[in-house]
Amino acid sequence: MITHNKEEGVIADDAIRYVLIRPDVLMGVAHQLPVDQASIFLDALEKSAFENSRDSFAHYRRSGRFGYADFLLRTAEVAATLGWGAWTIHKISPSASRVEVRNSPFAAGFGRSEAPVCAPIRGVLRAIALIGYGDSAAVRETCCASQEGVNVCHFHIQVD
Ligand SMILES: [Zn+2]
Repeated sequence: MITHNKEEGVIADDAIRYVLIRPDVLMGVAHQLPVDQASIFLDALEKSAFENSRDSFAHYRRSGRFGYADFLLRTAEVAATLGWGAWTIHKISPSASRVEVRNSPFAAGFGRSEAPVCAPIRGVLRAIALIGYGDSAAVRETCCASQEGVNVCHFHIQVD
């Protein structure tokens, strides 16, 4: 459970710190870099989201908060609580799922883009596949609300 300790200026979930930051401040890092380096920033953000959320999910697993069967569903609930948009999960086959995300803060914070930008969600979905189900997975954002004419971000998860 997320706690707000106003006296200490700390938001935390057990020992895991959180911070509220405007999404345009976070995603605006890409706009501060030379154009050809924005994708390097997004790839690094994906890897950081994967590595750090993997540790969070391992903690949730050890504490018994997340079971196996409902791991992705429980994560979707937590994502909404943390302001990461509204996630809907569709199982396509035993080895593939599609996740739709309405109101991604990362797309909103980035603004218009030709390519998908929700790198943190990609990283978290990859961590979910690994910790929740023991699988290494490839995650692609097939379309993004940052793109012209798209309202909802779509992610395709393919387990190896
Ligand atoms: Zn997106």
